[in-house]
Amino acid sequence: MKDPNCIFCKIANGEIPSNTIYEDDSFRVILDNGPATKGHALVLPKDHYADIFATPEDTAAKAMIVAKKVSEKLKAKLGCEGLNIVQNNGEVAGQTVKHLHIHLIPRYTDDGQHILWNPTSPSAEELASIRDKINN
Ligand code: 5GP
Ligand code: ZN
Repeated sequence: MKDPNCIFCKIANGEIPSNTIYEDDSFRVILDNGPATKGHALVLPKDHYADIFATPEDTAAKAMIVAKKVSEKLKAKLGCEGLNIVQNNGEVAGQTVKHLHIHLIPRYTDDGQHILWNPTSPSAEELASIRDKINN
């Protein structure tokens, strides 16, 4: 299913040109046009799913296989020393395009990027309480 108003649907299905570095029947991987680092790429399913919550399990699983294949290609061809896989869901989490996408961000020594968070210090009781809330 495609969303006629979605730019990533148009890109994934070839209606808008992109710098494609991988394509199969269900996915296209493109270079991000505002890259964090050299080779920053986006794994796009050709069908429209807004985010991880809307994505069927088999598509999510295949997306990660594509992410792995293309990560290996980025490492082999660009010589990155590491790579971050990032996937944002919802505005609060930084998602700006509401079509599921996985960021592949090659990392190089001194590339100037910081894809990190600020650790907090919950007590053992707080962690146990959160665990119980999730599990029960
Ligand atoms: P998000 O913040 O939703 O996780 O990531 C959206 C990403 O898509 C951003 O990194 C942004 O640079 C990229 N992006 C947005 N529009 C376009 C586009 O039209 N073409 C390409 N190649 N990347 C885009
Ligand atoms: Zn879409």
